[in-house]
Amino acid sequence: MIPTQRFRLDNARILTCEDKTIIDNGSLVVVDDRIAWLGPIAEMPTEFKLIDQIIDVNQRTVMPGLVDAHMHISFGEAASEEELSLYTPPAYRAIRASVDARKVLLAGVTSACDPGGPRGIATAVRDAIDAGLVVGPRLAAAGRQITTQQGIGDTLPAPLGDLSTSFGAIVRSHDEIIQEIRNEVKDGVDLIKIAGSGPGTREFGAFTLTELELAVSEAHRLDKPIAIHARSRQSIADAVSAGFDWIMHASYMDEPTMEMLIMRGIPVIPAMTLLVNSLDAGKDVVPAVIRDGIKRELEAAVKILSKAYKNGARLIAGSETGFAMTPYGQWHSREMELFVELLGFNNHDALLAMTKYAAVAIPRFGNLVGTLSPGKYADLLVVDGKPELDVKILGDQKNIHKIIKSGRFVENQEDGLNRQSQLFERTRLFTSGIYNRQKS
Ligand SMILES: [Zn+2]
Repeated sequence: MIPTQRFRLDNARILTCEDKTIIDNGSLVVVDDRIAWLGPIAEMPTEFKLIDQIIDVNQRTVMPGLVDAHMHISFGEAASEEELSLYTPPAYRAIRASVDARKVLLAGVTSACDPGGPRGIATAVRDAIDAGLVVGPRLAAAGRQITTQQGIGDTLPAPLGDLSTSFGAIVRSHDEIIQEIRNEVKDGVDLIKIAGSGPGTREFGAFTLTELELAVSEAHRLDKPIAIHARSRQSIADAVSAGFDWIMHASYMDEPTMEMLIMRGIPVIPAMTLLVNSLDAGKDVVPAVIRDGIKRELEAAVKILSKAYKNGARLIAGSETGFAMTPYGQWHSREMELFVELLGFNNHDALLAMTKYAAVAIPRFGNLVGTLSPGKYADLLVVDGKPELDVKILGDQKNIHKIIKSGRFVENQEDGLNRQSQLFERTRLFTSGIYNRQKS
């Protein structure tokens, strides 16, 4: 049992992120793992004036810890499809993820949603963090992404069949959709994830509307939110009509779907960082044919999503951290920058998209994260500068002066580990060339 603690952060510029309130010369009181009070120092209730542990933050900004609504803790900075599904043993993935979780927290992300990975890993990392075994953000975790032969998660050659180590769970019938959802709920997931579209398809979806409706009703019957990866036009349209709780990407959304999405208040997590980074990384890193597809998608996404935002759609920031193009701890806040640069957000609204509004993706903590008010978790950042005027400030770890999770300071010491990739984390390589027989 952790003994009771009480401390104050004094002389703070507080961004509550409940709305755009800024409290100058403020104080924030932490008791145990919660916020007990915040407001102008001049208005502090007497009971809190007696607290003897006072940290003077010197007019720095105090704001909620970031909430990354979309990242994959088990992906290990994967550069290949094989890495996500084949060679790396699940136990190794889990150990690796527990190290990567720390990097995420040290970037100022105090809560995150992992919408899908190999069975059992994200939930295990989540539980290890809760148990104090591993340092990391509060996690909400999906299980395997439920997919078909046309969705992501089933992109390896067909003869390999349904691999138990894959991040995708292939379902072949209505019964199997129901069964996989029940398996995952039994495994203790926080949400169900559907792979609604496949790589490179702009038009059709991986499931029929009837199948999606079935998945939504079973997840909701078991009291779990259900989210969908949907890049193609049809998958987005069907996801909106089936009533998913949120949609990831929505790149090729058409206008009638956009209107329906806004009417129904369904949030979108675009996760453009992965696309933009893949283009920025250059043609030596990402082959031209893949870059062309990404460019096309990004153009389509920016066009429809900026329009959707202007018309009242709720857009939420998630970084898609976990791939080789989005390594852990480096790119989480980049999505907010892209909301500003590409979608027409002002900086303060972009900040709300990665705090207050992102909390919907962490259902297990309901509305106890993402904003600062009494009773909420003391998940806080003390930041140099004014991120509500320039979110880029949060992309440089030097500006994050202190990170507090559950009322406890996160230590930012160098761990001295030199992370090296195992060969099996990429692909299984026998040789790197061909040995031709010499002609005599
Ligand atoms: Zn993802």
